[in-house]
Amino acid sequence: MATEFFSNLKCRECGRLYPKKAIHVCEFDFGPLEAAYDYSLIQKHISRKIIESRPQTMWRYRELLPIEGDPTVGLKVGFTPLIKADNLAKALGAKEVYIKNDAVNFPTLSFKDRVVAVALSRARELGFKIVACASTGNLANSVAANAASAGLESYVLIPADLEQGKVLNSLVYGTNVIGIHGPYDQVNRLCSEIAGKYGWGFVNVNLRPYYAEGSKSMGFEIVEQLGWEVPAHTIIPMASGSLLTKISKSYQEFMKVGIIPESKYSVHGAQASGCSPISQAFKSGTDLIKPVPKPNTIAKSLAIGTPADGYYAVNEVRNTKGACEDITDQEIVDGIKLLAETEGIFAETAGGVTVGCAKKLIETGKVPRDERIVICITGNGLKTMDAVMNHVGAPRVINPSLREFDQLLAQNPSLTV
Ligand SMILES: *Cc1c(COP(=O)(O)O)cnc(C)c1O
Ligand SMILES: [Zn+2]
Repeated sequence: MATEFFSNLKCRECGRLYPKKAIHVCEFDFGPLEAAYDYSLIQKHISRKIIESRPQTMWRYRELLPIEGDPTVGLKVGFTPLIKADNLAKALGAKEVYIKNDAVNFPTLSFKDRVVAVALSRARELGFKIVACASTGNLANSVAANAASAGLESYVLIPADLEQGKVLNSLVYGTNVIGIHGPYDQVNRLCSEIAGKYGWGFVNVNLRPYYAEGSKSMGFEIVEQLGWEVPAHTIIPMASGSLLTKISKSYQEFMKVGIIPESKYSVHGAQASGCSPISQAFKSGTDLIKPVPKPNTIAKSLAIGTPADGYYAVNEVRNTKGACEDITDQEIVDGIKLLAETEGIFAETAGGVTVGCAKKLIETGKVPRDERIVICITGNGLKTMDAVMNHVGAPRVINPSLREFDQLLAQNPSLTV
């Protein structure tokens, strides 16, 4: 495969070009570095037909992903189902709703498998033997699993108070799990220091330009799975804000390389009110992100008080005429239950945030009821069971006796068919 599609790293602020190394900030203005491509070359090499002929993984869009050789990590990641969610649509009072279901992504049941596939494939190209991350849970799970199968040593650093399910889902792969007393921002700051001192490949620090591009694959898939059309509305959960900016970038890149015609679309951002710096900035009409020093929400995977891409996310939402919303913990639980009861999909807390915010955006008219809506579900409910444990009732227990069963039915008319 030709290596020249991915040409450089480029500063988002001043546009200066940088070599394709393990670096992530501009030396002149501290702007974030982003992968740059030769789009006219890519346009000559890919078409819908070529993409459709490839295996159903995220790597079918590999010309638009920032690695040089063939991918070596996460070869089976992506191409998760896009489900037409008619029951949910009815419940939300909307005409056409789809769920992009990364709750069943491979191997670790969240959208983070996409970013890790790219970051670790690139880490290997750059010669790293030890990989690491700062994580709110899902990233740690995915780094641990993918590093294990790739034979890389890994360290994952997480806030010490994460859900049991997320912690266990890192430990089981034999990675080095380090819990830090303090919120995610402090974990992240420590990771920058460690990256500087030890020279490890931190997927979301010094490898962040590569990591972040992996999120585009979610958007490419949505477009392809809709029959090569951009949805009018995409509702996306935000932690650092990176996923939202990259889904928007994916739509624009498909237009740039002629895969789809120029089309209008809006991206909308969803957060938990207990940590909603991006949504608050949007609602205040500014792009200045006010840090949240002590996040307080059950949506721990989204609890980033100082979101690295918050500024860009707010602007992307505004530029596409979208909106941001945030909801309470109770509304998050209601969102999880609504998705489960209407579509049979058990999402983690971040999914509850997205469904709950979708409901609010539709009710307030910010997302029109009669236009096509895609809701991004990014993680699996089996990892955050603590959040719903006391909100789903309990089984009715009886002896193995038909008489007791008859009595149960008689007492509970809702059990009869
Ligand atoms: C990491 C994560 C996100 C969003 O991440 P960004 O930092 O905004 O790219 C969304 N949902 C889940 C479940 C996540 O783990
Ligand atoms: Zn710069």
